[in-house]
Amino acid sequence: MTTRSLDRSVRFSGIEIVPEVPLCQTDLPLDRYQEEFQPYAEEYLALPDRTPETVLPWMDSYLKPACDEFGDQMMLLAHYYMGGEIVKLVERYGGRIADSYELALQARQHSQVKWVIESAVHFMAESIATLAHPTQTVYITNPRAGCTMEMFAKEHHIAPVFEELRERYGDDLLVVAYMNTSGRVKALAGKTGGAVCTSSNARHVLGWARNQGKKIFFVPDRHLGEVACWQLGIPTEAQFQWGGGVEGMQQRVSKLSEKEREALDRAEVIHWGSFCGVHTVFQPAMVEHWRSAGYRTLVHPECPLAVVRCADGAGSTKYLWNEVLQAEPGSKLAIATEGHFVRNARQLAEQRGVEVVHLAEVPGSQAQGCGCATMSRNDPPHLVAMVDLLRRGKAPDLNRVEVGDSVDEATGYRERLDPEEQEEVRRDARAALERMVQVTEAAQGT
Ligand code: SF4
Repeated sequence: MTTRSLDRSVRFSGIEIVPEVPLCQTDLPLDRYQEEFQPYAEEYLALPDRTPETVLPWMDSYLKPACDEFGDQMMLLAHYYMGGEIVKLVERYGGRIADSYELALQARQHSQVKWVIESAVHFMAESIATLAHPTQTVYITNPRAGCTMEMFAKEHHIAPVFEELRERYGDDLLVVAYMNTSGRVKALAGKTGGAVCTSSNARHVLGWARNQGKKIFFVPDRHLGEVACWQLGIPTEAQFQWGGGVEGMQQRVSKLSEKEREALDRAEVIHWGSFCGVHTVFQPAMVEHWRSAGYRTLVHPECPLAVVRCADGAGSTKYLWNEVLQAEPGSKLAIATEGHFVRNARQLAEQRGVEVVHLAEVPGSQAQGCGCATMSRNDPPHLVAMVDLLRRGKAPDLNRVEVGDSVDEATGYRERLDPEEQEEVRRDARAALERMVQVTEAAQGT
């Protein structure tokens, strides 16, 4: 197998494949695979068990020839939240594990790559495609893998509300779009002179928008928006909570009470009302429990503000991973984020004498941390089928990701823009992404 060099900005995750441990927790039924992928899924499901001893030779038989043939021209990518041990498998075949921000930059930073194959959710693959070179093609191993936060903030949800707000506030309104949005929503931010943000720079981007005296429409994560406002000292009276999903789409300024309209006019920040179910389960009492048991509590800013306020530290996926890597032997960490991430972090930390627990798993309580189920719709047969079909010149168009694609993850239906419209979305979304980079670098003094 060809060994490919890793970008220095993304090191090996440190996650290891453990012999005899099943590689996938759940098996998808055969009809959940697209037609071209079903023969591969059948072979996978027929393996006597799903431990590394059986799965790896099966995967090697497809992936090694592709790695040898494509070499540096193919790049496999996965997110830290991937379950089914895909994170371990992707690295085995020379791929990279990263958070959504780093993933977005991978194609752009590696111009020799022709084919990017992503095992994560759709908005992440679309961000890669937005910044990719024209010679690069991006595929997602399962087009039905979507982010639930993004699913409640599609362009068709947000656009009518934006139009109404725009009518009321004119050029004073500026959109800040979290990375967890489609290209079309990022483009909306770009068009208004706004920017994209990530969980690590949301407060810098919001602060930059505020310094221009703009009224900010923050989409889609109400928790991250509230956390950033708290960090900037923006009081709750200067924030307005809009609905999310269909409810948000149907909400109208004219239907608000007079008091609500006054609050909307007063607001510095209007929050779209979506959120991540995985990160919303955490409660301040869980933080208190683990702290009193001697654990340092670290949380992701997609958690509710009350949780972030009482935790010992809050930050992005990369921040949390680095905290685990840098923890002193003997230290104890309780982490509030996605379940597969915490499980992988626990395994890595154990080797260094560091104890990691999932913040929601308080002994004696019913609460349980959960994994990102939609992201985990990418499994070994999806990866194997995608790579092998690409090698055989039969890569399905359904898996190709283009800027501006709108996907219904429940049905798999995809609406694709014509080339001129795609170019417009790419231009505006890139402008929003580039503004984020400028603002972040200015804030960090780089
Ligand atoms: S963990 Fe939540 S925010 Fe992250 S991809 Fe999954 S649904 Fe989206």
